[in-house]
Amino acid sequence: MSIDAMAGDASGLQVHQFRSLDDNYGYLIRDRETGACAAVDTPSADDIVEALASTGWQLDFIFNTHHHEDHTGGNLELKAATGCKIIGPRADAERIPGIDIAVGEGDVVSLGRLRARVLDTPGHTRGHIVYVFDADDAIFTGDTLFSMGCGRLFEGTPAQMWDSLQKLMPLPAQTRVYCAHEYTQKNGRFALGLEPNNRHLLARMSEVDQLCSLDMPTVPSTMGLERLTNPFLRPDSPELQASLGLAGAALVDVLAETRRRRNEF
Ligand code: ZN
Ligand code: FE
Repeated sequence: MSIDAMAGDASGLQVHQFRSLDDNYGYLIRDRETGACAAVDTPSADDIVEALASTGWQLDFIFNTHHHEDHTGGNLELKAATGCKIIGPRADAERIPGIDIAVGEGDVVSLGRLRARVLDTPGHTRGHIVYVFDADDAIFTGDTLFSMGCGRLFEGTPAQMWDSLQKLMPLPAQTRVYCAHEYTQKNGRFALGLEPNNRHLLARMSEVDQLCSLDMPTVPSTMGLERLTNPFLRPDSPELQASLGLAGAALVDVLAETRRRRNEF
């Protein structure tokens, strides 16, 4: 099961997106000019080998977002098979199998002529990072930001997650959000419970329901759409606050309660 989501001609960033494991997305990304290629996370070595075969691309790097098995499970096998270099979060370097280059906030990662800014986004794990391709209007968010959701707080606090999400919020509306899981429909149903009158959310959900009924991906989303529909980016929404019984509360407390309720949804 594989789809191609190619960036516009103006962009040098090519993205090959495919499903992996139960509900993960795998991504091969490539610089059109130089052919430099990376896998963003490695849910399954077999699926990535198959994606490399179907594209004809050659793997130079793995860009890991965080240590979880469904993001690093293919690291060692792919490194042995291809000799690729593994880049991952400095704050969690000891938990990234085969890591060669540890990076964190303020670092810039090169893929051929492409450049990705690294942001530290702790919350889901203590060492989560995301890769921002500013010139190509794309971000790879791992399990920090999902379409209409955010990652569970396994190793971090609501305050850390809120800080992390706030780093992403100013990105341009057209920024494509490539997240690591297809959780969109369930996230959207939860979001509608909190903001039943959000017309952007209603429109997005009818589109999502249609895509899901056709077994098509709802990812990538865009930052513009996320700002309008994602409850974890909208703790300032009066309707959302009222639904939670938290009108006028501190935004971090609204986010914490939204996350708590989503865990039980
Ligand atoms: Zn994870
Ligand atoms: Fe995951």
